[in-house]
Order: sequence, then C-alpha cells, then structure tokens
Amino acid sequence: MSRLHNAAALPREPVFLGGNSVMDFLNTSFTPDGAPAEAIGDGRSFIDWLVRAALLDADDAARWKRRFHTEALDAAAAEARKVRQWVQEWISKWRDAPAANYEREVRRLNALIERASSYRELVVTKGGLQMTERLEIGAADDLIALVAAQIAMFIVTEQPTLVKRCAGPTCTLWFLDRTKAHRRLFCSAAACGNRAKVAAFRKRQRAN
Ligand SMILES: [Zn+2]
Repeated sequence: MSRLHNAAALPREPVFLGGNSVMDFLNTSFTPDGAPAEAIGDGRSFIDWLVRAALLDADDAARWKRRFHTEALDAAAAEARKVRQWVQEWISKWRDAPAANYEREVRRLNALIERASSYRELVVTKGGLQMTERLEIGAADDLIALVAAQIAMFIVTEQPTLVKRCAGPTCTLWFLDRTKAHRRLFCSAAACGNRAKVAAFRKRQRAN
C-alpha cells in the first residue's frame, strides 16, 4: 500500500462506484490495472470532481474557477489529497472500533466544515417560489468544506460494517455495501469480479 502511494500517480478520470460520495472521494486515489492513479491531482480536476460527485453546482464551479487563481486551486487540491489520506486512516479505524473516542478527529473535521457557510434564500423559478441553500466560499481552500460536511454525515448515518474494500488483489477501491445480503466483494462485477472469476477458472483448469 505505502509503496503504491510513493510511486508517481498518473492523472486519471475518477470512478464513481463507491455508492457514496465519501467512498468516491477516498477512491480518487486508486490503482486501476495495478498502477497508482490520481483523480484530483490539480485544482481544476478537484473542482470537476466536486461537480461530478454532485457536491457543487456547475454554475458555482465555473464562477470559482474564474475567481480563484490556479495556484490557489492547486493548493486546495493538495490539501484535499492530505485530507483524503487522513480520512482513509480514520474510516479504517472507525470501521474496526466505531465506539472509540474520536474527539481529535471531530475537532479537525469541524475546523474544515466551518470554512464554508451557507444561508437560505427565496428564489423565483419557472415553477414558482422556492427556498434554496446558497453556499459562501471565500477562498479556494474553503472548497474542502463541501467534502468535510459529507464525511461528517457519513460517520453519523452509515454503518461501519458496510464500509468495505474491493477483494481484487491489486484493487484499492472502497465501497459502501448496499446489497441486501451485504455480501458485495468487488468494486464492480464487470472489472474485479470478472477478473476473479477468470482467475478461478484458470486455476481449476490447471488443476485438471
Ligand atoms: Zn476492484
């Protein structure tokens, strides 16, 4: 694992098969085909990821890309990658010991959540009047607050026993097992599930 993290990660399109935006966030660092890949290697790809994860409005994203400097956005992505590493460790711990004392983690997470503030506003739409929630982001590194709020929601609403990692031997992907029987083993049946089936078939053939 650490060996993979130290190798240079190639930029790669993110995957969305974790069943939850926090799982998908952890999966922005992954090893498709066994080689390390990075989906939020710079500020633009971080913003694009937020939009694709439905954590950020496309209009807001376009506005913030214009408003913040590339360096500031890149620094925000670098922080997001650090946060990702920390959350991976925390979620692994929480999975094994959900009732442990996480005061330190909670303090760190709250400090990230606080960077953004939101207010409610009445807006006129084609369908009539509607209340919407507007987000206030003052600087590029406030963007991480969007992810931090999801992490907080995740910890309070999801079951730790359903947080799993793919059983594929070189795969590092996380997912939330939402299947009825809770027996999901692979990130996707088409990729790792199929590879495992082929490997088992070959093994049987060799045995014959
Ligand atoms: Zn997999």
